[in-house]
Amino acid sequence: MPLDDATHRYTLPGATGDWEIVVGLEVHAQVQSNAKLFSGASTEFGASPNTHVSLVDAAMPGMLPVINRHCVEQAVKTGLGLNARINRFSRFDRKNYFYPDLPQGYQISQFQFPIVGEGEIVCERDDGSRFTVGIERLHLEQDAGKSIHDLDPDATYVDLNRSGVALMEIVSRPHVRSPIEAAAYVRTLRTILRYLDTCGGDMEKGQMRADVNVSVCRPGQYEKFRETGDFSHLGTRCEIKNVNSLRFIMQAIEYEARRQIDIIEEGGKIEQQTRLFDANTGVTRAMRSKEEAHDYRYFPDPDLLPLELEESFVETIRVNLPELPEAKRKRFVEVLGLSEYDASVLVADKDRADYFEAVIAKGADGKLSANWVNNELFGRLNKEGLGITDSPASPEQIAGLVGLITSNVISGKIAKEVFEIVWTEGGDPEQIVESRGMKQVTDTGAIEKVVDELIAANPDQAEKVKVKPQTLGWFVGQVMKATGGKANPQAVNEILKKKLGV
Ligand code: ADP
Ligand code: MG
Repeated sequence: MPLDDATHRYTLPGATGDWEIVVGLEVHAQVQSNAKLFSGASTEFGASPNTHVSLVDAAMPGMLPVINRHCVEQAVKTGLGLNARINRFSRFDRKNYFYPDLPQGYQISQFQFPIVGEGEIVCERDDGSRFTVGIERLHLEQDAGKSIHDLDPDATYVDLNRSGVALMEIVSRPHVRSPIEAAAYVRTLRTILRYLDTCGGDMEKGQMRADVNVSVCRPGQYEKFRETGDFSHLGTRCEIKNVNSLRFIMQAIEYEARRQIDIIEEGGKIEQQTRLFDANTGVTRAMRSKEEAHDYRYFPDPDLLPLELEESFVETIRVNLPELPEAKRKRFVEVLGLSEYDASVLVADKDRADYFEAVIAKGADGKLSANWVNNELFGRLNKEGLGITDSPASPEQIAGLVGLITSNVISGKIAKEVFEIVWTEGGDPEQIVESRGMKQVTDTGAIEKVVDELIAANPDQAEKVKVKPQTLGWFVGQVMKATGGKANPQAVNEILKKKLGV
């Protein structure tokens, strides 16, 4: 794509000049909770249709919603994790509209007074560079049910299992400048939510989806917007509803930006619209225009009191926050001495970070452990299509292996063989090395003996080394071969140099 990620300039052949893309995202994240937002019904995924529906979720007349305290805690926790302001006062409003899978005839949401206000998160581009995205707000709301159109040619079925499930809508500022940055933002958000344990983040299970707002402008306009906060410097946006994978988010932005640029280049104007992304064709199409936009007639839900949070409630959550990816990455670099790259790779996935932490908790060297987890272990897991939580090799085993390397009991090369045994047969690395005689030979006497024999058997080669010291490698290879790779390479080199006088 002719979009330069460093300058954000979008250069299209035949265009009257460069363009830039501006994106803001509204991410709907399902709150990690066993029960729904206003009822005790289960949120279990994949249950038979309409088996997790309480009278409240089915909107039977006279039923009253009762707020789930855990969901409120989760929203506050998420807000704190997004470095955002927690609003001690917030309120639930009814957003009125008709849809067959919405039996109440309204969604309980938060409009004027959301539970979380402004925040920001640091995201990482593919090349490792970082950028900050402002968060406008986070509010709590209920999910709707699901209409199923493809089970019967003549009828639509309704499944209310999702009706009333708690969602957090996380609204970003329009600080995202390209498809790649949009994916990076959603990925970072997902990682943070997973660290916090406030959302599973599985887009395939509908635990996260995004409404993507896209506009285009000429170079310089975005900077004016950032300086003044005045949206009139930006182009008119279109909102693409319910995009449910990172790839689709990128495709939708790319398509939509091109569509808008083409319209403007041809002398047209962008009409503010809600659009849908068709994953099969990669195209966005109009759903409704601004004029047809819903008037939701928001008003405070009379069945629910405003939420007023005690300071101690917020503080308790704050002091119990887990370490978040950004802080963990810094610690890995500053305290453990890992490279920026290794640290980023480790923290990007909570399970991987947890695994690594379990390895070093056993006292294993940080840098070497990072290397083993990121390369050997992940290489192997990927090859077999396994996730880290299904790894046949445990953190204890990897720690044992790393320990054997750092204490010079085995070489890195032998360690790979031990790893193979651990992977396929299991067992304690130390015992494996002991029982199979894989220990590195550091006994100089034994190595000297091998070296003497080799020199005696290869006098020509020995003469050659004296003239051309770079051919010493041949002898090193022979010693390794003779010792089954178990000789300590450093000791071998020293002894050879001494004996051959180089
Ligand atoms: P609404 O209430 O209609 O959804 P908001 O002002 O809350 O509108 O904005 C929704 C999203 O649209 C936010 O993520 C915001 O960053 C984004 N947005 C607003 N203006 C633009 C624009 N000109 N270009 C791209 N995104 C925008
Ligand atoms: Mg919106």
